[in-house]
Amino acid sequence: RRQSMMSLPDSKLPGVGTTIFTVMSQLAAEAGAINLGQGFPDFQPPARLCGLIAEHLAAGHNQYAPMPGLPALCEAIASHAQRRYGLSIDVANEVTVTAGGTEALFAAIHAVVRPGDEVVMLDPAYDSYGPAAELAGARLRRVPLRMPDFGIDYERLAAAIGPRTRLLIVNTPHNPTGAVLAASDWERIADLIEPTGAMVLSDEVYECLVFDGRRHTSVLSNERLRGRCFAVFSFGKVYNATGWKIGYCVAAPVLTAEFRKVHQFLTFSVSTPVQHAIADFMREEPAFHDGLAPFYQSRRDHFATLLRESRLALRPVAGTYFQLADYGAVSDEPDIEFCMRLIREHGVAAIPLSPFCAEPLQARLVRFCFAKEDGTLERASERLRNV
Ligand code: PMP
Ligand code: GLN
Repeated sequence: RRQSMMSLPDSKLPGVGTTIFTVMSQLAAEAGAINLGQGFPDFQPPARLCGLIAEHLAAGHNQYAPMPGLPALCEAIASHAQRRYGLSIDVANEVTVTAGGTEALFAAIHAVVRPGDEVVMLDPAYDSYGPAAELAGARLRRVPLRMPDFGIDYERLAAAIGPRTRLLIVNTPHNPTGAVLAASDWERIADLIEPTGAMVLSDEVYECLVFDGRRHTSVLSNERLRGRCFAVFSFGKVYNATGWKIGYCVAAPVLTAEFRKVHQFLTFSVSTPVQHAIADFMREEPAFHDGLAPFYQSRRDHFATLLRESRLALRPVAGTYFQLADYGAVSDEPDIEFCMRLIREHGVAAIPLSPFCAEPLQARLVRFCFAKEDGTLERASERLRNV
């Protein structure tokens, strides 16, 4: 890990440097490389939604929003969950609008984790979970996902969950591997969690990006987990607007009450005009979300076709906008070195997986983001075919 900033001798996060997303985006910019690293689309949010933001700015909706979120947006979120997943959500007491999924993850962890508690994570794990839990004083128990399909290894998970476990963090669809959990996974997780006092934090920011006719299954659909889980979502992924930093958390009323105690001192509330605009847009276009899976599935397939002649072996992608590629036929360099060289010699940025794992993976994998225009994918693939 690159330690690009000076740190205190008694830093609270001694092992943490600058995130791999920032590092790779900076290197890509310096080298003029095509950036398929950090996950963000290179196309714009819906024009109507941008227009609505402008309207709400002009209409003077520019002061603090209510702490839990604009009621109209919380309503729209509950309708979305009802329409897509058949979920009943108590609008006033179960939804909190946050500054992206990142804030929701941090607030949920800090709402329930005390010093000395154990937090179980599945590796590779999104980079914010570990530091957020460590700042709450947690001991991390990191359980590798099963190779080669990145499903959950229930034997190892069962061995990691015990009386000191406070929280299990799960991510579906999964960044960086693209794996997707099924309803039966939630049942098996409930079997392990129910006898303990633990809770589940489910990161579902890629809820709409599930391919090949499969459906996203939220932790909220599991009756045994519904009262002991937090589910986290992000509008950045839904509306091609990762820079707006707006998301939300759904949890049972007692958990939401604790969540809001943290949220109100972390950010208090989130951009008012953007909340108004998203609320209007969700009401106007309730089916917008349904178009995302076919759209991204065709990006995935296009990228895979373009790379068919390359020496990179692509892994199956069930969800998210990320493609894992095995570069074992090209080189046996460690993944960070390979990514550095890919930028330097081939002009394409990817994300290595080792920063998401406590133990090295048994494969040489890097992650490409395919949330890109055809032209971007075509230019990048031309370069990748020479690797
Ligand atoms: N969780 C995962 C798995 C993510 O990939 C991301 C961001 N790409 C987040 C959380 C954070 O979401 P946001 O950008 O809305 O903070
Ligand atoms: N979540 C994005 C990704 O996985 C990056 C977010 C960030 O840069 N912090 O690429």
